[in-house]
Amino acid sequence: MTRTGTVFERMGIRPVINASGIYTDLGGSRLSPGVWGAMTEVNDQFVKLADLLDGSGRLIAGRLGAEAAWVTPGAAASIALMVSAAMTGGDGAAGQRLPDTAGLKNEIVLQRNHRYKYDRQITMTGAKLVIAGGAGGTTEAEVEAAIGPNTAALFLPAHLDRSAGTVGLARLVAVGRSHGIPVLVDAAYLCWPLELMPSHIAAGADLVCFSAKYFGGPNAGGFIAGSRRMIDWVSVNGFLRYESGPYRTFGRPLKMDRQTIVGVVVALEEWLALDHSERWARYRRQVAELADLIGGIPGISSEPKYFTMDERLVPEPVNSLVVTVPSVGRRTAQSVAAALEAGSPSISCSAEGSTLIVCMDVLRDEEIPIIGAALRALLEPNE
Ligand SMILES: *Cc1c(COP(=O)(O)O)cnc(C)c1O
Repeated sequence: MTRTGTVFERMGIRPVINASGIYTDLGGSRLSPGVWGAMTEVNDQFVKLADLLDGSGRLIAGRLGAEAAWVTPGAAASIALMVSAAMTGGDGAAGQRLPDTAGLKNEIVLQRNHRYKYDRQITMTGAKLVIAGGAGGTTEAEVEAAIGPNTAALFLPAHLDRSAGTVGLARLVAVGRSHGIPVLVDAAYLCWPLELMPSHIAAGADLVCFSAKYFGGPNAGGFIAGSRRMIDWVSVNGFLRYESGPYRTFGRPLKMDRQTIVGVVVALEEWLALDHSERWARYRRQVAELADLIGGIPGISSEPKYFTMDERLVPEPVNSLVVTVPSVGRRTAQSVAAALEAGSPSISCSAEGSTLIVCMDVLRDEEIPIIGAALRALLEPNE
């Protein structure tokens, strides 16, 4: 059997220059040589995964000042594992019946303005979402009113904390405590500024999860941090001991390999030690270079902006060049984005209204001139 060309070529697919940012559908982030090296190192060595999950959890917990932590295959998986832990406690027999929740506290309270796409991972466990409040928002009294004898947890997507018409984390924790109900937090991308990472636990959240894709880790990695007791419950429902233990655990499909677990740990270590001012300075430099490369094209203007993780454009800190592409004939920002994607090499960026958003989050320096040339070819008037 012969093997020629790159693995992508053999499959008949094309690589993409990622000027969109960190998206699961584009493969998450780029692993650093240090992360990749650590994954290669453990490829040569077997280890008991129970030891590896205990050890990695201990290391992460230490870094975050949490009692305990547990590596998972991402934040979405973490949500399902946090919710299943809240419903079943450490009861493996109850865990193996999920998503049948008969006899369990199975209600998760979520505020109306906190509904978001990953609340699907709450209900996939068999839990029932109880939405507190109405279209006008949610008051503390409405959170109280949503709590009943079957409430297993209160849930907060942390990026929506303090959004209009919501009860903030500190008050939610106070309400949870007064009823003896845990508060679960999805802080998937709240890994920068670094002070955010331990902040939810410090504020009293019982469990909080992060996605490794946002801190330079594997696309299929993440972790949960929080109380020792609840992390133990998470581990009971995880993928370990399905074959060797007494229970057919709920989390068996959420399995991990040792390489990914180590990748999550080393990516976090690097992220916490990284010179983030240098990282932002690099984006700014790349943005300036691209602005230069496409300067002077009639009718085209560009502006440095911050394209946030929740896809808003704000002034600072700069990570993107927003290129305004007025519609001319059949040319729109959308048609230019489509042409970039269809081009060779394929370039992926966002198109919003009459703008293209070229995001530097995972771009290499040498990719900037390629994007500049492609944009110039598409935007320059051809006489
Ligand atoms: C990406 C994301 C998730 C899912 O994380 P994965 O690690 O990809 O499973 C959950 N919540 C938010 C807010 C996210 O941005």
